[in-house]
Amino acid sequence: MAEKQKNILILICDQLTWRALPYYGNTFVKTPNLDRITRNSAAFDACYCSFPLCMPSRCSFWSGIYPHETGVLSNGRHWPNEPLSAAVPTLGSVFSEAGYRCVHFGKTHDAGALRGFEIVPVTQGEAEPASPAWPIHYDTKNDVDTAKKAVDFLRSDRDPRPLLMVTDFNNPHDICGWIGDFAGEHENPWVEGMELPPLPENFVFDDIANRPRAVQYLCCSHNRQAQTARWSPRDFRYYLAAYYHFIQRVDEMIGLVLDALEESGRGENTLVVFMADHGDALAARAQVTKQVSFYEEVTRVPFVFHGPGVTPRGGPITGSPVSTLDLFPTLCGYAGIKAPGTLRGMDLSPVLRGERDRVDREYVASEWHTEWGFTVSPGRMIRTERFKYTYYIEDRAEELFDLKLDPFEKRNLARDPQYAAPLEELRGHLRSHLEETGDDFLSLSWKADPEWRCHPLGYHNHRGPAAPEAIEPAAVWLKRMRANGGRPG
Ligand code: ZN
Repeated sequence: MAEKQKNILILICDQLTWRALPYYGNTFVKTPNLDRITRNSAAFDACYCSFPLCMPSRCSFWSGIYPHETGVLSNGRHWPNEPLSAAVPTLGSVFSEAGYRCVHFGKTHDAGALRGFEIVPVTQGEAEPASPAWPIHYDTKNDVDTAKKAVDFLRSDRDPRPLLMVTDFNNPHDICGWIGDFAGEHENPWVEGMELPPLPENFVFDDIANRPRAVQYLCCSHNRQAQTARWSPRDFRYYLAAYYHFIQRVDEMIGLVLDALEESGRGENTLVVFMADHGDALAARAQVTKQVSFYEEVTRVPFVFHGPGVTPRGGPITGSPVSTLDLFPTLCGYAGIKAPGTLRGMDLSPVLRGERDRVDREYVASEWHTEWGFTVSPGRMIRTERFKYTYYIEDRAEELFDLKLDPFEKRNLARDPQYAAPLEELRGHLRSHLEETGDDFLSLSWKADPEWRCHPLGYHNHRGPAAPEAIEPAAVWLKRMRANGGRPG
């Protein structure tokens, strides 16, 4: 090795949709610290997670294979997951074998896929709510601890090995506590001078009758969506204000880590990667947080590379979509490490270096199964440069969106005869994808009691609890949370 390998710092946010970031066009949110990375970066415009839920997504990108291959298809509870097989190579195992010191700070939720990393345990740090409008849960407190431990490490570490470091933040995931455990009294606080963000242009969901049943009854499988049944449009603007606030909190934490990296003298010699495990519905279609669906807000995430060897671009790199599954092969390509043959993603390092202007591939894919096992809705998404196609086992329902003409996914075109040709092509991509990746998706079954498919269409027509609360009452849920240090799971 002629020259010392570059260090790599991966910064992760939980539940951060690309559409909420100034770099990707949001004019309301301010992220001065993330801007330090994005300003001189090679960042991808259309990056998709392989499953819009924490644990399946994380296990998938750390191991570089699809969720149906890892076997991690939920966040646990009534659909328990086996840990990732020890036979599957992981990013940490491959880089530590190649001589890197691999250290992880913050949120894990990996089902064993962080194998090869030294895991620094996270505890709750000291943090106060900035306003009664934005009560904080374990997420913001954990992030304070994560940032502190990452900063202390960067200040004191003298290990001569190249470093692969992950700083894995929870926020803006605290929005789940805001609408979950803090439901009710904090939904509509009046805060003097608070500027309310505008609603997105796809807030009104007038195409709901034309969507898969699993999406139509998302409120019945999702306790947080159920809570919005009586919300006014203004309440959704409070939701957005809180979500954006939690982004600004994590931006501050990212600033502390970037400062420590600079002060350590390693700034010039470290590739910084910024990404998220999945997005957030962002009040689009009057939806909140994330649950069954593959809409842009929940599956599309930031994917940013900054540092030595990266040719900065003036804006996000367009072309074919990319996937968080590309992280593993891209880092192997960047570091000159042989990638394991198991990986499903693509090495994007030639694009980072500026040898290529765009990404060329036919499609990327994403999956859904269940959040907790109370309702089960197997689905698959195929995304090409222009179209998005989804297929749900329940009712064999399909969606087709022309993202060039309809970037906000307002009209499902699956039954539009004018789109018969692209529909057939996308169906073909799904068949190839299932075959090539050994996915027995078409033989899976869905599960939802008729009780969770009965009210008139529209999330505002939902009444009472959703499946998780009805099947496992709130008191049991709270007890489990407390026994688990304030975390669900
Ligand atoms: Zn409902």
